[in-house]
Amino acid sequence: MIDVAVNGYGTIGKRVADAVKEQDDMQVVGVAKTRPNFEARNAVEQGYPLYAAVEDRAERFEEAGVEIEGPVEEMLAEADVVVDATPSGVGAQNSQMYEDYDVKALYQGGEDADVAERSFNAAANYGDCVDCDSVRVVSCNTTGLLRVLHPLERNHGVGKVRATLVRRGGDPSQHGRGPINDILPNPVSIPSHHAPDVRTVMDVDITTTGFKVPATLMHVHSLNVETSASRSEVLETLEGESRVRFLDADDGVESTAEIKEMMLDEGRPRGDAWENMVWRDSVSVDDGELYLFQAIHQESDVVPENVDAVRAVTGYEDGDESVRRTDDALGI
Ligand code: NAD
Repeated sequence: MIDVAVNGYGTIGKRVADAVKEQDDMQVVGVAKTRPNFEARNAVEQGYPLYAAVEDRAERFEEAGVEIEGPVEEMLAEADVVVDATPSGVGAQNSQMYEDYDVKALYQGGEDADVAERSFNAAANYGDCVDCDSVRVVSCNTTGLLRVLHPLERNHGVGKVRATLVRRGGDPSQHGRGPINDILPNPVSIPSHHAPDVRTVMDVDITTTGFKVPATLMHVHSLNVETSASRSEVLETLEGESRVRFLDADDGVESTAEIKEMMLDEGRPRGDAWENMVWRDSVSVDDGELYLFQAIHQESDVVPENVDAVRAVTGYEDGDESVRRTDDALGI
């Protein structure tokens, strides 16, 4: 069994913990939180050993009646791998602690690429990350781009890629985020950070632009890829990818709200959409250029990638088999 600790039990961390729990070759040895809120109580109720992430706030847990096992360092001593799912930039501050405890570390996409030995995406570069001491699972948007671009490049070759990312203003629980009534070019400069982020994993000529909109459910990408593949070849290639799922407008799935409703109806935990959701009707090839629209569930698409990254850093060599095991366990 691989012993996995999760430091930072928020949007990503709690989902990764639950996904790890579903696997038959790994277990959660603890989760660490900074404060005793409803997520902390829920973690204890679910049976996760809870640790205090910040030593001088440990007494707050006691005051709130939430039982903790000890400080985060004790959790690290139990773990083979720590998944750092703290807010952007905090992972880098934690990296020395992980080295001191000789624990393999996974970081998230909010960290700079140089926080880890490699950036990771299961489809694109699993093999490069086997036995690394640390990897950074790239962001939700970058994961969504790589899941489509890598198989297209492998099977058909791709030329110039242009992607417009319509990004949610915040996650559903982030009541302080915006915009409320606006459309922001974000960033106003081009390219957005996503293009260089894709290139931390895959060598491809890509330019990305980004907008933020008053939405919380998902991101939507409009993708334009130079390729020699026909529409049917593109469909065949992407239909072979377990983490790319096709939607049909005729089926009544015309929006991100309907995707979320569909996931809830299917009984997905928290209504999560782990796969890229590609509208089949949008897939078009015109004069050597592919167009498609896909929706990306920012809260959950990186979750199966984190599970695979755990296997990679602990030396499990077969990336395809890891993806299959993760997907089977989650029900993808
Ligand atoms: P979040 O704010 O929902 O959760 C972070 C958790 O870490 C919170 O519970 C916070 O209290 C806790 N925390 C803060 N400081 C800590 C510390 N020093 N030690 C331990 N815990 C600490 O954030 P999130 O959305 O889960 O994002 C986590 C990482 O995942 C970021 O790098 C982010 O960029 C990345 N990411 C987020 C999304 C998304 O859309 N939410 C998608 C992909 C990747």
